[in-house]
Amino acid sequence: MKGKFTCVVCPTSCVVNAEWNEIELENTDHAQCKLAWDYVRGEIFDPRRTVTSTVRVDDGDIPLVSVKTEPPVPKAKVFEVMQHLAHVVLKAPVNIGDIVVADVVGTGSNIVATKKILLKA
Ligand code: SF4
Repeated sequence: MKGKFTCVVCPTSCVVNAEWNEIELENTDHAQCKLAWDYVRGEIFDPRRTVTSTVRVDDGDIPLVSVKTEPPVPKAKVFEVMQHLAHVVLKAPVNIGDIVVADVVGTGSNIVATKKILLKA
C-alpha cells in the first residue's frame, strides 16, 4: 500500500510518501529527518490523539477546568473519551497535573488537569 502523510512532529510539516504492507512500514521518502519513520508507522498501525477538553468543577473559582489525555489515546476511542468527560464533575481545588480520571474508558491513559482551580471565595 502507498500513501502520503504530513509529519507533525515539528513545524516543518514534511509531506512524506510511504509504502507499507499488512504488518510493517517498508519505505518513506521526502522526510527531512528520521523522526518521520516512527510517526508514519504510528499513523498507519496505531493512530493516537491527544484529547483536550474541559470538565465541570463544583465550588471552584471558575466552573470548568481544562484537561488532556496523557498519553494520547487510540484515535478510535476519541469520541468515547469525550462522551465520558461530559459526565465528570470534580470538586475544587484542582491542581495542574492532577489525575482527574484514571485509565479513561479502558485506554490505559489518564485525564489530567492542565489548569489550577481554587476554592470559590
Ligand atoms: S520529518 Fe523531521 S523535519 Fe520533517 S516534519 Fe517530521 S520531524 Fe520535522
